[in-house]
Parts: sequence; C-alpha cells; structure tokens
Amino acid sequence: KELPSDPRTDTARRQVTEACFSFVRPKEPGNPTLLHVSPEMLEAMGLDSSTAASEKFLKVFSGAEVLKNTHPYAMCYGGHQFGNWAGQLGDGRAINLCEVESEEKKWALQLKGAGETPYSRSADGLAVLRSSIREYLCSEAMHHLGIPTTRALSLMLSGDQVLRDMLYDGNPQYEKGAIVCRVAESFIRFGNFEIFTSRGDHDTLKKLVDFTITHHFPHLGVPSKETYLKFFQEVVHRSLEMVIHWQRVGFVHGVMNTDNMSILGLTIDYGPYGWLEGYDHGWTPNTTDRTYKRYRFGTQPQIVLWNLLQLANALYPLIEEAEPLEDILMGYRNDLPQAYQNMMQQKLGLTTEQEADSQLITDLEAVLQASETDMTIFFRQLANYKGEGSIPGIEVVQEAFYSPKEIDGKIKEQWDQWFLNYSERLKNENSANDKRKKAMDKVNPKFVLRNYMAQLAIDAADTGDYSLIDELFQLLKRPYDEQPEKEKWFAKRPDWARHKVGCSM
Ligand code: AMP
Ligand code: MG
Ligand code: MG
Repeated sequence: KELPSDPRTDTARRQVTEACFSFVRPKEPGNPTLLHVSPEMLEAMGLDSSTAASEKFLKVFSGAEVLKNTHPYAMCYGGHQFGNWAGQLGDGRAINLCEVESEEKKWALQLKGAGETPYSRSADGLAVLRSSIREYLCSEAMHHLGIPTTRALSLMLSGDQVLRDMLYDGNPQYEKGAIVCRVAESFIRFGNFEIFTSRGDHDTLKKLVDFTITHHFPHLGVPSKETYLKFFQEVVHRSLEMVIHWQRVGFVHGVMNTDNMSILGLTIDYGPYGWLEGYDHGWTPNTTDRTYKRYRFGTQPQIVLWNLLQLANALYPLIEEAEPLEDILMGYRNDLPQAYQNMMQQKLGLTTEQEADSQLITDLEAVLQASETDMTIFFRQLANYKGEGSIPGIEVVQEAFYSPKEIDGKIKEQWDQWFLNYSERLKNENSANDKRKKAMDKVNPKFVLRNYMAQLAIDAADTGDYSLIDELFQLLKRPYDEQPEKEKWFAKRPDWARHKVGCSM
C-alpha cells in the first residue's frame, strides 16, 4: 500500500499518547552505497547471499524503497537518563521496516539513521559513518563472543552529508551519513513500558505487556497477574546474564539508560561504548559521564538492578502488589555475587569452588588495577601459566603490562604473592594444564574490538578505504580462536590511542 500522503506519516515533533508507535517513512537517501553485509545475519534471516548484491537490497536497506505491504514505524518510549526521568524519547533516528519470519525465529528489521520521526526532538534523525561503523562491527562481534545482542545486517553510506558538532574542537563539521540495518527479535525496551505508566495510561501499558508476552514470551502462558510476575522474573534473569557477560569480556556500555535496556536482555544501542584496556572498575568511555561516572565498568551490574527497579515500577499498575516484585529484585541482588564469582572462576580456569576463591578474585582485581594491566591479554596469557616450578607467572603475563618496568617493589611482591596463591589453588584442581587452558580460552577472548581498532577502521573509511571494516569483521567472527596470521590485533592499545575514546552521535 502506498503511504506517502498518509497523514499518519507526519514527522512533526510531538507527544504521542495512547499509542505504542507512529507510522513514518525513511528519508530518501542521496546516493546510497553498500559498504558491508553480514553473511551470518543474511543466513539467519533465510536470505540468499546473492540477495545483498541486488538493487532491491540497496534500496530497501538504505530507506529508498518501502517493501510492498509493509508499514514502517517509529516506537514511542520514555526513559530514565543518568538517573532522571526524561519523559518521552522514542525512536528518534530508528525506523522499523518489517518483520521477517525465518525457520527459527522472527526478526525485526530496523534502519538506524534513516531520517526524522515524531521522536527526533531537536535532532535530525541521521547517523554518521563513524558511529555506524562502531555499531555495525561491535554488535556482530558481541554476537560471536556469545553475548546476547541486537545484530546488524548491513552498513550503507547514504550519500548525504550530516552536520555534527565535533566533541573535541567544538566546531560543527560535515560528516558522511550512514545507515545500519539492525536486527533483533524485538527492539522493545524498558522505556516502552515506563512511558505509559508515567502517563497513567494503564490500558496501553496492558496492551503492550500482553503483546510482549504473547509474541516474545509465549512459554509463560496467557497474560495474567501471575504471568506478569513470571515475565518480570525472566527479564531480571536475562538482564543479569547479559551484564555478567559484559563483565567477563570487559565491555563497558557507556549509556545504560532505561531506554537502552532491552526487554529481551539483549545488548542494545552501541553508542559511546568501549572495551577495557587497562583493567579498571572506574573506567567509562563516555566523555559526558566523566564527573559521576555513573556507568563505569565496575557499577554495571548495580545499574542493571536500578534499571530493573524502574521496570518493576512500570509494571506495578498491572500487578498492584509491591512485595512479589521486590522479592524478584532481591533475588537479583542475592544471585549477583554468585553469578559474578562463577564467571570469574571460569576465567581463572577453576572448575570447583573453594572458600578462599572469592579472596583470590578480589586480590587479583586489586593488583590488576594497581598495575595498568591489559584485561584481554592478561586472561589469555594466564591460561599458559603452569603453576609453581615452571615459568614464573609474572613472566607469563608480561605482555599485559602497560609499563612493565614499573612492575617492581611492592607491586611485584603483590603479583608474586597472588601467583603463589593461584598456584597453590591450582593444586586442588584435578584438570591438567592443557585441559585448563582449553577451558579458559573459551571464556577469555583473544580478540575484541579495542577502541583504537574501531578508530583505525573509521579513519581509513574517512579516506574512502573500507577494507579495514571487513578485516576486523572477519577477525571478530572467531574471537576465541588463535588466528596466527592476525596476531597484530592481539596487542595492547598503542600510545597514541591512550586517552582517545569513541563517541556516539
Ligand atoms: P541514546 O543516547 O542513543 O540512547 O539516544 C537517546 C534518544 O535520543 C533516543 O530517543 C534517540 O532516538 C535520540 N537521538 C539520538 N540521536 C539522534 C539523532 N541524530 N536524531 C534524532 N534523535 C536522536
Ligand atoms: Mg538509545
Ligand atoms: Mg544511541
């Protein structure tokens, strides 16, 4: 059906009430070019790999053409940003195209950066190549790391120029516009529920909750108060699982506002995210969060709990009892330490749990932090440690230190003590060194999308060279494997990248 003259596709900025979404049309791109496609995503959606080379693909996934019988829309949601209720936000630069049903599941397809919607507020609805490369590469990399995430199907240049304030020099500048097609079973966020509760619109709230359960949590049964609690319990469970994965690989999301929390427990909204280089609980990649560092690495699990509390408040009108919701939240609080410890034990190659293990982990975190130590390299090299009487631990992990010469005196003593405790602890493990290494290499990735790597791909793309996007894409498909010909990416951040961070807009 033709929609252009439909009054409902009006993009005038407004408060949208008693509705979960608004119909919109993607903006016609000036001169779209396909830069990259994810073959895995094509396959998951049941599409032939040759599809990507077609004119149709180019048009549909750049927003130039709307598929017949589909009705693109932008969703209405609110959110708590940095701890404060921000009111209506919504898909300001994301447009949902349609849903694809493949054998295994349903996939919602969404264009990010395809133009204005009623939710664009004071912004343009567009995305620049820089942030699009970051989202495209990182979301697929997270998937291959085994972390629940939204996916990416394609990366396009729109052929249009986009005006942006550069964070560093404050001067506005034109950048290349880009469009990513994001894919997920659903893009519904905590904020989609919060908005209706904040307006006292319990009818629409119930509609959306019932829809979410029926479509995405059908195993919970028909909607009822009891089902709503089970639903909340499952969201809590999935969110905990997601954030423990983040802590495992050193991923720092950077903007954990409730509008960026997926109801399916997926990592969503790749903006100013970053990867730990030096292990540091206090680090955040988000330059706008440098004062309070609300979303720093070490607090991510607590922030998830805070966000879940906001979701509980949003669901409350349908349940009308605080206690069962509080019990579920308490469950998260009680389960978190154990979940964290289990994950850290795996990183250390410990298959049994012993009383002193939590101290061993705390001591390690302290010494990792005291001597700027690359998280990824450290855990990967630790798997080569063979215990007392073999090569000393500190030599095994040598490559992970940013200033190896400074590892002496008290810090060296701390490290030696830790390795002594670790080697003692390993004696209580029954598995042989090589078996332990194998297990550790499955949870400690060798390759992650270090901040400088994404930056190199962006800098090359700015000059028209898109080959690094593919090189990193291929590398990050097998993050746990040895890839001898790609060893150069198993390296500490170079000095030039030390205080550089990626940014989001
Ligand atoms: P984020 O910080 O990325 O979660 O974005 C917060 C809100 O701002 C969301 O409602 C986004 O859709 C909106 N937003 C971010 N960038 C843009 C943009 N360039 N144009 C329109 N809306 C935007
Ligand atoms: Mg967002
Ligand atoms: Mg964003």
